[in-house]
Amino acid sequence: MKSGVRGARGKLAGIPGEVMFGVWLKANGQETPDGAECYKAVSEGPRLHRSGDSLCVGVTPGLLPTPSTKGWWPHRLARGGAPQAGRRPPAPVLAEEMELRGWLPLLLRLGLMWPLGAPSEPRLRVFVVPHSHMDVGWLHTVQESMQAYVTNVYNTVVEELTLEKKCRFIAVEQEYFRLWWDGVASEEQKGQVRQLVAEGRLEFVLGGQVMHDEAVTHFDDQILQLTEGHGFLYDTFGARPQFSWQVDSFGASATTPTLFALAGFNAHVISRIDYNLKEAMQKNQQLQFVWRGSRSLSAQQEIFTHVLDQFGYCSEGFNWDGEAIFPGTPLNGMYLQMQIPVTEDSIPNFTSLLLNNVLTRASWFRTPHVLWPWGCDREFLNASLQFANMDIIMEYINSHASEFNVSMEYATLGDYFRAVHSDQVAWQVRDHHDFLPYSSDMHHAWTGFYASRSGLKALARRASALLYAGESMFTRHLLLAPHPHLDPAWGLQQLQQLRWAVSEVQHHDAITGTHALKVDDMFVEHLSSGMQGVHTLMASIIQDRSPAHSGPESAGRLAVVYNPLAWTITTIITMTVDFPSVSITDESGRPVPAQVQRSKETPSAYDLHVLTTIPGLSYRHYSIQPRRSSQEGTGEPKPSVASTQQFGRRLRRRGGRVGRNLVPVVNDCYIIFLDLDTNLMHSVWERQSNQKVHVTQRFMEYHAITDFSKGPFADNYVFRPDGRAEPAWEAVRMEIVAGPLVTEIRQDFYREVNDSEPTFAIYSRLAHGPQSSDGELLCHRIEQEYRVGPLELDREAILRTSTDLNTGRVLYSDNNGYQMQRRAYRQDPWNTIPWNYYPMVQSAFIQSRRSRLVLLSEQAHGVSSQGNGQVEVLLHRRLVNNDPAKIIADLTLNDTSVVHPVFWLLLGSRNLTSGLRQRSGLALQHRPVVMLREMSETARRGSGSRQQEAVMLPPSIHLQILSIPGWKYSSNHTEHLRTLQKDRNRAAKADLRRVLLRLQHLYEVEQDPVLSQPVTVNLQSVLRGLGSLVSVEERSLTGTWNVSEMHRWTWSTRDPPRHRGSSSQPPPPPGDPEVTIYPKEIRTFFIHFQEQ
Ligand SMILES: [Zn+2]
Repeated sequence: MKSGVRGARGKLAGIPGEVMFGVWLKANGQETPDGAECYKAVSEGPRLHRSGDSLCVGVTPGLLPTPSTKGWWPHRLARGGAPQAGRRPPAPVLAEEMELRGWLPLLLRLGLMWPLGAPSEPRLRVFVVPHSHMDVGWLHTVQESMQAYVTNVYNTVVEELTLEKKCRFIAVEQEYFRLWWDGVASEEQKGQVRQLVAEGRLEFVLGGQVMHDEAVTHFDDQILQLTEGHGFLYDTFGARPQFSWQVDSFGASATTPTLFALAGFNAHVISRIDYNLKEAMQKNQQLQFVWRGSRSLSAQQEIFTHVLDQFGYCSEGFNWDGEAIFPGTPLNGMYLQMQIPVTEDSIPNFTSLLLNNVLTRASWFRTPHVLWPWGCDREFLNASLQFANMDIIMEYINSHASEFNVSMEYATLGDYFRAVHSDQVAWQVRDHHDFLPYSSDMHHAWTGFYASRSGLKALARRASALLYAGESMFTRHLLLAPHPHLDPAWGLQQLQQLRWAVSEVQHHDAITGTHALKVDDMFVEHLSSGMQGVHTLMASIIQDRSPAHSGPESAGRLAVVYNPLAWTITTIITMTVDFPSVSITDESGRPVPAQVQRSKETPSAYDLHVLTTIPGLSYRHYSIQPRRSSQEGTGEPKPSVASTQQFGRRLRRRGGRVGRNLVPVVNDCYIIFLDLDTNLMHSVWERQSNQKVHVTQRFMEYHAITDFSKGPFADNYVFRPDGRAEPAWEAVRMEIVAGPLVTEIRQDFYREVNDSEPTFAIYSRLAHGPQSSDGELLCHRIEQEYRVGPLELDREAILRTSTDLNTGRVLYSDNNGYQMQRRAYRQDPWNTIPWNYYPMVQSAFIQSRRSRLVLLSEQAHGVSSQGNGQVEVLLHRRLVNNDPAKIIADLTLNDTSVVHPVFWLLLGSRNLTSGLRQRSGLALQHRPVVMLREMSETARRGSGSRQQEAVMLPPSIHLQILSIPGWKYSSNHTEHLRTLQKDRNRAAKADLRRVLLRLQHLYEVEQDPVLSQPVTVNLQSVLRGLGSLVSVEERSLTGTWNVSEMHRWTWSTRDPPRHRGSSSQPPPPPGDPEVTIYPKEIRTFFIHFQEQ
């Protein structure tokens, strides 16, 4: 949430008669000068002031301001969302003689401008949709928000809706609703809520735990947070949200329409898109369209999309319930956003204000239905005051409906969309392009948040990966061990806690790094304790299933390695040991290939690299023991000790020849050449296609503009560099650590020549694994870990990789790890550098005709191509601007941490990299989990090792989730509703036998000749390792619908629907274990296995 408004503003609490705001009114379609100029004119001279064909109006506290748009509404940081795209105020048609109090006759005439519609019926139908935007952590923690307003919102809304039949409300963030439901609501209130939900007057929209960010979140996590909320709503009410409400996410991703269609939604609402584009869409009545978010999927995955107009989700000027008061809020000088009550005197003003707004909005849409979101951040904390005032205005307008040609009603989002759907319009179709990056005006490109709080972004993804591994481990364990030592309810609770924490951090002010420091602490705390719980769960599972270890030795440690992917993975795992002389054996006692070397950051420790091959969802066990001297000289294999070559500091060169003095590092796939004159990478030879590409990597920094008084400045959201990036180091030191398994190149970058500690570092690894098909991924990647920080103040650090590929500055970057977007370089007179930044959630690449350089990342960053053959990643930001409001709110980015982002680089022909990219991305995301324990602790319980059969999927199909959600509902909808009716207080038990399985086809249509083919999987046979399959039921994305019963609305379009994927095939009989998965499809199933 952010309000990015800076406008002409008089005194905060104006004295009657004094001008508070200057407002330009002008005819449609024309530019409107800045409000500041108008304010100056009307505060110094007459209240009404003409300039050309525009009218400048001074608004006093006695008169109501019209709803806000950018540039002329006061900047109030503590309220976000209000002003959105668009540089001009709403522009009604203007008449010469118009005065503020003379609007009504004008409106009457405007009514005549709508020639359609029966004369007896009002032409415009206005759907007033009451809502409260409740950020799950922004300036305040969840607990503070619960106390300051959330509890009041639900208490008073439920009361008001129960009293007044005509009232409606939409509820969005399920984390808050659930906290209220579980911890606050009385039995009486719960009964009332059930009644309101059943009557459709309280409508859950979106239904996720949070309103997730769309730029820097991974789609696995989006699905998780949606699934968590939907599961609760369905369990509790039998309710299934059918409309989205993504109104405050900073930009909109093309993944979202696909996911929401799969979840059964009938319409999708977004808001924050580029201001220029929104303006054009308004003008051309294109704010509503059918969005085909994926180029590979069929019409089944399209969704009707509504972009909120420039007013966004706020209706300023219509809030009567005041501000939430948080602990520590300085009351002195606080702007109480509380409107004067609606009375006989003030009603003409309110009416003209509202009608003016409605007519303006109506002109931007193709149907005579106007969506009028009523609310803003933290509103409806006194719902009774809200409705009591609004009732009067609406009654007044409705009693003059035929004069005004307008009728108004309280509505849910569903009411509005049902009306639009009934209009039989042929809608425009938009393709798979996204709405990123988001710019709120010409000076504010919201691309800084792609890298704000980089450490939290990393933690969020690591937590998500741990959860993923924990889910499948737990599922396997529960299915195979009928009487496990661990209590299943306890296990589920550990997973549940981490599911919640990972869901929470997807919020659009969480993973984005756009929150106050204390809120950051909260997110970290929730993630850390959730991870701790899942680690404990995993340790218990290991304890249960570890092999009984007999034999004399009890010293040393046992490493249990779990592969959470449903493919065989060959990789190198790394463990830290205290001594270089160890012996490592596998479960059958055989020595395994390993390498020991001094740890790069802890001089007293050693890294033990072990080459491992693990089938899908399986374990390997290794025992690590210190070598006794008696073992020396026996010829028994032991891990090789790597050799180290040091290269002293080289100064940063400003020109001069390079490449005269190269040293190669070689594996079966690449030769990396390092330049000993610079200690930088010089080039990479890709051996399969026999191509050499110049590749150099340098840390650089942008200097951020942070002075509030000098115009637009950088903050947690906005990237605002002062010119080009500059080199951020003066010297580089290099070390090459070579061994039989891995060669590691360590480059330390020093900010000043004589610094003792490097500010930046690159640790690159090239593996010398087997060249079998399993080893293909390992061979074809250059693994890199960077060290960045601590940064100096007002610096933004990037790693720029420069190549001699002729790319034309075209970059490809992903949407949420799901699909790629092509990004052509764009020129902009004000903001070219930040405008060409994009989110990179998992992958990005640049390419020439022959070669492609792919970057895969473990966490989200910003990515850009600012020059031909270049790709740069925004890794870390530290800045503090002097905006007083941000300082008070502690919304600064004085991030002094050191971050360690991980990247894998792939280089090769387009064909090769296209086949490897997705699977390599997943191999990075879900690396094997290594659990170490002391040898003496094992096998106390003696359940022994059970041989578990691997779970293996074809290479283009990814096991997206295997879990036991623990829902209580019956899969049969009618039966579930009957149960809810009959016995709502029954403490239903979690169903521990229902397994949630989600499969995803990784490839786009025509991306790869083999991997892009549809794949038929027999679930019975691939899941054999989990038990005997009894039933398969295909479900909607979040599990709440049986897909055969889910009938989404169809929307007619101007373009014919496409027939791709399963829609052109006859559906398989329900329960068939054989499923065919088409490119980019995501399919969700409930699986039941035979009880053992
Ligand atoms: Zn928000």
